Parts: sequence; C-alpha cells; structure tokens
Amino acid sequence: MVRRTRRPAPTQERHLEPCQTRCPHCGGPAHVAYHSRRTVTTLTGLCRLTLRVRRCLTPTCAAYRQAYRPEEEGRWALPHGEFGLDVIALVGALRFAEHRSVPEIHRALLARGVQIAERSVTELAQRYEELVALRLADAAHLRAELAAQRRVILAIDGLQPDRGHEVLWVIRDCLSGAVLLARSLLSATQGDLAALLREVREALPVAVAGVISDGQSPIQTAVRAIFPGVPHQLCQFHYLREAAKPIFEADRHAKKELKKQVRGVRPLERALEARDDAEAVAVRGYCLAVRGALTDDGRPPLGTGGLRLHDRLQAIHASIGRVEVERGGSPSPSRTSRASSRADWRRPPTSGPRSGSPTAGCGRRPTSSPTTRGATAWRCARATRTCSRRWRRSRSRRATCAVRRPTS
Ligand SMILES: [Zn+2]
Repeated sequence: MVRRTRRPAPTQERHLEPCQTRCPHCGGPAHVAYHSRRTVTTLTGLCRLTLRVRRCLTPTCAAYRQAYRPEEEGRWALPHGEFGLDVIALVGALRFAEHRSVPEIHRALLARGVQIAERSVTELAQRYEELVALRLADAAHLRAELAAQRRVILAIDGLQPDRGHEVLWVIRDCLSGAVLLARSLLSATQGDLAALLREVREALPVAVAGVISDGQSPIQTAVRAIFPGVPHQLCQFHYLREAAKPIFEADRHAKKELKKQVRGVRPLERALEARDDAEAVAVRGYCLAVRGALTDDGRPPLGTGGLRLHDRLQAIHASIGRVEVERGGSPSPSRTSRASSRADWRRPPTSGPRSGSPTAGCGRRPTSSPTTRGATAWRCARATRTCSRRWRRSRSRRATCAVRRPTS
C-alpha cells in the first residue's frame, strides 16, 4: 500500500563526511563527487542526513569512480532503509523478547511518536531476524568472545514443536549465551548426539568446563563418550519442572473450573454496545479486565496460571465491591434460584446476604423507573444475571459485593 499521508518533516539534520580525503585503495586524492541525501526515522525523531560522497579518479585504481560514502552512514540505518537501527532493535526486542504481536508493536511505536505503518513493523521484524542470523553466523566473532572467557559450559537440549516432527537440538554456551550449534534430527540416538557434541568440541577454541542437560540417558552416554571426566549436571529448570508437575496439573484443573464460572462476558458487552456513558465505559473496562485475566497464561514451573487467574478475578471482584460501597448502595439479596425475574429487578433493595458478580453489568441506578429507561437496562440486567448466576454458584458464600438494583 502506498503512503497516504506525507512523511513528517525532519526534526534533526546531520552532515556526514568520509573519514579520509584520500582513496583507501591507491592513496591518491578522492574528490568530492556529489552529495547524497536521505531521511531516517529514529526513536528520537526524523533525521535528515546529508552525505558527502567521494570518488577516486585515478584510472589505474581498482576503485576508479567507485563511490566512497561516509563510514558513519552504516551506524544510522541499513542500506536503502527508511528506519534507523534503533527502531529495528526495539521492534526485535518487543517481538522476540516480549512476544508482542505486530499490531501491539505498531501501537507501541506510534505511542513513542514513530510514524510507521503496520506492514513496516512486519518488515522490520524480518530485518531484525536477518541481522541476528548474520550475527550468529559470525564464527570469528564468536571464537574471539569464547577465547576471552577461557572456558564454556555447554547446555544441550532438544525441542520438538510437534509430535512426530524432527527434534531441533540446540547446544549453547551458558556463560555467553551464544548458540554454538542448532540442528534438526529425526532420531536422537546416542550416536547422533555424540556426533553433534564432537562437532562442537572441535570448533571450540577453549575447554569445556561442564555440561548441563535434562539427563536423558542418550545424552548422558554421549557426554560421557565425548567429554570424559567433565562434570555433567541436571538442568535446574528441568528438575524443577518435573518436581512441580503434580502442582501444575492441579493448578490447570483449578483454572479450567474457575474459567467456567466467568463465561458470559460477551452478552454483557453486547448489551452495552449502544451506550457510551461513563457507566457503560466502566462496565466495559471490567469486561476487558475479565477477558485479560482469562487469556493470561501461567509459566510453569513457578508461574501458576490458575492461582494467578484466581488473584486477578478476586481483584476485579474487590474493585466492584469498592465501587458499590463508594456509591453508598445497599446490597442486593442473594438470588440463588433461577426465579429471578423482571419483578425481582424492580423490587427495592432489601437487606440480606450479598451476592457477587465479577461483571456486575448493571451496577447502576436508573434515575427513572426501569420502564422508562427502556429495554437496554433490562437486557443488561438479564445478561448480568445469566453471567453472575454461574459465578455465584461457587462464590455466593464469601462474595462481598452486590449487584446494584435500581430503585423503582
Ligand atoms: Zn584510488
């Protein structure tokens, strides 16, 4: 898609010069041939670059009439790139370190004042991947880095995206975090793994001080064969994950049960579609909070999704309770039966045990009677009941906040 709006005017201007005034090949004079201009979008704003380009005019030189551009240009952006390297780095970090989606990254960049199209975010994420791949393939750089730390601690692990697929074996150095070898194998016999370890050993400029793995027997045998006498430790993460498995299973079950109680946010949102008053906005906010809580996954072994969901729902619940108290409302009686009807809705509030609703779609007090408020309020109330009834089945005993009912 072509750009529909004009690119904003640059806020900064920089003049870049080649470091040398003589030809880097023959040492002869390099004359100023022309000036090149480009605008780069960076995180600090748009920068207009004016580059002085030189050329060697010695006919016998290998670089005869070749453009000699300022060295600093590469620090700003990739060749022909519209966005600075800092923008690419941020996109990569958001995409791959924080697992944000492209629309989310797009919004984050717009919030920082970077004018960018969503499609460009996808392209920048691809550029980032290419730059990382290039960096990983830089064997000379890696060898120098490993030589400086004088030893490596290898971690070996296999990742299988799906059952029946190839296993991606990754061997990395725990000290530098560098991936030393990554290869897909259909089988993972001791011989296959030994071949991988041997390849790494031969490429390494330093000694292996230790090996960490999940302790599968083919890995153990292969490590013993290739690195005799080198300590081999069970990975703490794998150890912890195995130990926490029963807790994780129980937590997953609890989460499933908890989720059943808070279904029905959509009818509430639908009932509020036509409204944009402050109350509808607030209720929509609560609906979003419930949605957010439902999609928030835990990270085993230590991040328990069920407990987190429980905490978040409790926080939403408490918030609704506080709103009720602030508005000075009296609690509605517990409606344990399905007999709640329109008449019930109209009845003035009475004292009694409080019932809870995580969504409380109708926590509002109509200024006029329900009949004049029209069908919207009724639809809203009905949706609230349908939703909150399920919730109350498990929560009614300790629920503290009430669904506010209008006074007639
Ligand atoms: Zn020359």
